[in-house]
Amino acid sequence: MQSRSIQPLPENPEPQRLADEILQALRYRLGKDTTVATPHDWLTASIKVVRDRIIDHWMKGTKETYEQQEKRVYYLSLEFLIGRLMRDAFCNLGLMEAMREALASLDVDIDLIARLEPDAALGNGGLGRLAACFMESMATLDIPAHGYGIRYVNGMFRQEIQDGWQVELPETWLDHGNPWEFERRERSFEVGFCGFVESPSDGEGDAPGRHIWKPTERVLAVAYDTPVVGWRANRVNTLRLWSGMPVDPILLDKFNAGDHIGALAESNKADALSRVLYPADSHQAGQELRLRQEYFFSSASLQDILQRHVSQYGEIASLPDKAAIHLNDTHPAVAVPELMRLLMDEHDMPFALAWDMTRRTFAYTNHTLLPEALESWPVPLFERLLPRHMQIVYAINAAVLLEARQGGHFNDQQIANISLIQENGERRLRMGNLAFVGSHSVNGVSMLHTELMKETVFADLHRLYPDRINNKTNGITPRRWLLQCNPGLTTLAREAIGDAFLDDIAAIRALDPLADDATFREKFAAVKRQNKERLARLVAERLGIRIDPAALFDVQIKRIHEYKRQLLNILEAVALYDQIRSHPERDWVPRVKFLGGKAAPSYHNAKLIIKLANDVARVVNRDPAVRGLLKIVFVPNYNVSAAEILIPAADLSEQISTAGMEASGTGNMKFALNGALTIGTLDGANVEIREHVGPENIFIFGLTADEVAERRKGDAQSRATIEGSRELSQAIAAVSSGVFSPDDPSRYRELMNGLYQHDWFMVAADFEAYAAAQRDVDAKWRDSAAWYASAVRNVARVGWFSSDRTIREYAKDIWNVPV
Ligand SMILES: *Cc1c(COP(=O)(O)O)cnc(C)c1O
Repeated sequence: MQSRSIQPLPENPEPQRLADEILQALRYRLGKDTTVATPHDWLTASIKVVRDRIIDHWMKGTKETYEQQEKRVYYLSLEFLIGRLMRDAFCNLGLMEAMREALASLDVDIDLIARLEPDAALGNGGLGRLAACFMESMATLDIPAHGYGIRYVNGMFRQEIQDGWQVELPETWLDHGNPWEFERRERSFEVGFCGFVESPSDGEGDAPGRHIWKPTERVLAVAYDTPVVGWRANRVNTLRLWSGMPVDPILLDKFNAGDHIGALAESNKADALSRVLYPADSHQAGQELRLRQEYFFSSASLQDILQRHVSQYGEIASLPDKAAIHLNDTHPAVAVPELMRLLMDEHDMPFALAWDMTRRTFAYTNHTLLPEALESWPVPLFERLLPRHMQIVYAINAAVLLEARQGGHFNDQQIANISLIQENGERRLRMGNLAFVGSHSVNGVSMLHTELMKETVFADLHRLYPDRINNKTNGITPRRWLLQCNPGLTTLAREAIGDAFLDDIAAIRALDPLADDATFREKFAAVKRQNKERLARLVAERLGIRIDPAALFDVQIKRIHEYKRQLLNILEAVALYDQIRSHPERDWVPRVKFLGGKAAPSYHNAKLIIKLANDVARVVNRDPAVRGLLKIVFVPNYNVSAAEILIPAADLSEQISTAGMEASGTGNMKFALNGALTIGTLDGANVEIREHVGPENIFIFGLTADEVAERRKGDAQSRATIEGSRELSQAIAAVSSGVFSPDDPSRYRELMNGLYQHDWFMVAADFEAYAAAQRDVDAKWRDSAAWYASAVRNVARVGWFSSDRTIREYAKDIWNVPV
């Protein structure tokens, strides 16, 4: 870490003192004594003890920010995939060992209670996890920041696998309360919906200016704060999540008139706003409730930000100098017209001034180019829910289109692309365009993705505002994704190169020369082996599948999506299965293929792919002809906690998306940092990972993004491609004819036909290259010295993919805050 130095922590507290504090908490906070305390009570008491220590750091930072009038960062995200927090806090406060001892002295196993902590899954996948890593890095880098989101009572669904199919169950993470959070009843804001707009009385007609919005529906947003502790408790920031409450909990006149259901209608409506997270990843949810959620949390957050600003500075004009508001994807894009409304209608500002301030305040991150994921709302729906905002959007659009026309460089089609309103077919409001024009910075999340953004979705907006798009390659926090999840590797690295990398992960580069040291490689392999044994034990216990920790562990864990191509992986496994049976004499590398991930409940093909993985696993795992050389394990309910076990145990990381479709990926970074080699396409951040680790330490295969685009333009060639590959056509034929689904032989016929008809995701097109790359993997695995040398080099060379580096770039280039 550069300029600001890390304060060493005060001497570790005596475990004895911590044990006393835990007993006190048990008694006075929970009202229990040791004879009746349940494991959950011990967990709660431990968290309360640690939380008390956090509070002092928290208040100190808040006070300093206030007194020194520091600029604050506000990170608006509909998702925060934070996972469990206890280890995170222990680790960052340097309390892990002392707490372990303290609890042991009370006869409590810290690992046991740690497993009881619910995994806060308030996000779908990468986008939500990025927000969580960013929060931790901002605290680590001592940036005054608030995260804003929704406190979903039921976050991401819990996935069970029944008879091979995904079954979705509600995740009830708040069942035992949430010992981390502070409810702030006093910090609540009214959020309106629907109604009408009263025009200015001075007869200005439609011209922008002060209007009065009279919503007919109102709800309260109530704040719940969770402290986010940075490394070495440098700073503690706030994650503020909003919960929906009725303005009138019960309509008594309705109730007294006998309408008992109607009397509670408002309560139910408010409750619905913070009840569920839409389980759609890379797909726009498109439901009215979703738009309501977006406005609900954007409006509450902006009211909160403006109130804080005005109460500190006594005026509003300095907002852009003292607040940077970041839009994590377009989900909070409605914050743009909301800030305009607050400035114009409540602070009496003219349109031009409000527009200038708004653009200086906001920045926007784009996360996807997939057309099905780009948010847009039907104009009639938007206008009904948010009539004032619709007027403001029209006024913004008029200003932007005027600017575009004035240059005279744009034809009608290009003007139509720039417009906030899509006019062909149903009129829709494009949230990406709204976020773009309302921000001073628009960033992509990997070099490739940013370049593609300039060429595709935002091509014409980029021509109009050529300085706005910039790249900020994603990163991951090394605290959670190395220090906590892989204590074995952390200890080994500390012994080998000292502690500098704990404070600055770039220093892990010092491991690089040790790749050539046979003794070090053996120690490294022993750590990997321990992590694999732990995973093998869990798989045996929970899934009843026996696997050999000596086998190559090949892992693909991420949301199930056709573009991520789990199907390519499964078809290659089917082909390999066939080969092993046909050529028992060959020297096959024993492999365990792990797959895990959730499918959006409405995504038919994704759910079918889960079933296929399980069907193939059942046949392969019990076939004696395979002699255990290939095992397939589908890990149910993939979440952050599962990732923390699987990633340290992986030898091979599958990052095989269709080139041009994965914006960045962050799973790829976690694996490399834990010493797995990547097999992947030139997509997202894989491109940059290759540059950092060197082409000899990664297995790259397949079509490039340009080649994919080219191929999609031409005639479909997939039939010829499939017929040209014996392995692939046999694998497809086997799946298609029901070899793995004898109970329903036609189950996969359509899925397989899709490969013949269009092969949009290039599964057929990339199959041969992928299979060949897998045989290269086998060859390298046989040369164990070469394998572990590459693994060590991966660890040593991916420090750059730390979210500390990413956040420093945001701070300097986008937010203009010191680091
Ligand atoms: C890192 C992470 C992701 C993102 O994985 P990708 O492979 O980049 O899609 C998704 N879910 C969880 C739980 C994660 O930890």
